[in-house]
Amino acid sequence: MNEHEPMLRVEGLKKYYPVKAGVFSRVLSYVRAVDDVSLEIFPGEVYALVGESGCGKTTAGHTILRMLHPTAGQVYFQGQDILSLDRAALREMRREMQLIFQDPYSSLNPRMTVGEAIGEALEVHGIARGAARREKVEHILEVCGLASYHYRRYPHEFSGGQRQRIGIARALVLEPRFIVADEPISALDVSIQSQIVNLLKKLQKQFGLTFLFISHDLSVVKHMADRIGVMYLGSLVEESFKNEFYSNPLHPYSQALLSAVPVMDPFRKKERIILKGDVPSPANPPGGCNFHTRCQYARTFCSSEKPVLKEFSRGHQVACHMVLDEPDYERSTPFG
Ligand code: SF4
Repeated sequence: MNEHEPMLRVEGLKKYYPVKAGVFSRVLSYVRAVDDVSLEIFPGEVYALVGESGCGKTTAGHTILRMLHPTAGQVYFQGQDILSLDRAALREMRREMQLIFQDPYSSLNPRMTVGEAIGEALEVHGIARGAARREKVEHILEVCGLASYHYRRYPHEFSGGQRQRIGIARALVLEPRFIVADEPISALDVSIQSQIVNLLKKLQKQFGLTFLFISHDLSVVKHMADRIGVMYLGSLVEESFKNEFYSNPLHPYSQALLSAVPVMDPFRKKERIILKGDVPSPANPPGGCNFHTRCQYARTFCSSEKPVLKEFSRGHQVACHMVLDEPDYERSTPFG
């Protein structure tokens, strides 16, 4: 595989949950958690999936790893359709694709030592046992900023930041190529967050890892990502290279998200865009553009015609009628 071919290709991914009611559990509607998401991630790249909580980014990440079965769509990893794999082939593939959980404590078994928790996967995959297993686990602990003597300790003996290091070590011990990091710092104290972000960045470079980085925090994403995809109500509404995204966000939703990011310069004033109303229910999304109930630029046709993700400039795609069809739109935005 060369760097110009995607390591991961997702096509038309959907994950719907039925909403049932009555004695016969009749299906009344579906919660469209992920609704027709397509994206590509290239080798060595950090692709950040961002959006408010409930936008479907975590479900998308878990469905890509086939921890959840999709309602429709395809996921190709290194050219192979992972949704068609049988159990044995999927287990083999899982060596290459790992997950870093949001809450490291709940993902660790309190009765297992750190050595057992990290080394378990090495045994399951038949990679190392006994002394060899221990050696590998101690090595990965040190790589992740812990000490080899932590091998015998239990999760409750560690701080939140150390537990996330254990979670990262467990994801890396199988030497994967692709990692889904699901809000890896959101459960941590602010003072610890930057240490974990720096660790992830260091490991990504050291091992040439490819990341799907799921986060609602655009300040963190700015440090980690190469490209960014913005999700709203289960769909991608904008996708761009990082610098282009932060300097020229096109979708009104992206602009609102970025306007809420604090700036470090006390002399620079930034206009905050307050979105009106709540996020609509994914069980009953609005017609046309999903965002029209909260969009300050909405026109009548926005409530009936769904915009599709289209290229605006090289590598920068957006799903918005006004950006793609109205030449004056850009000038009227707070970023124009
Ligand atoms: Fe707003 Fe219309 Fe663009 Fe949707 S399509 S984001 S409602 S301007």
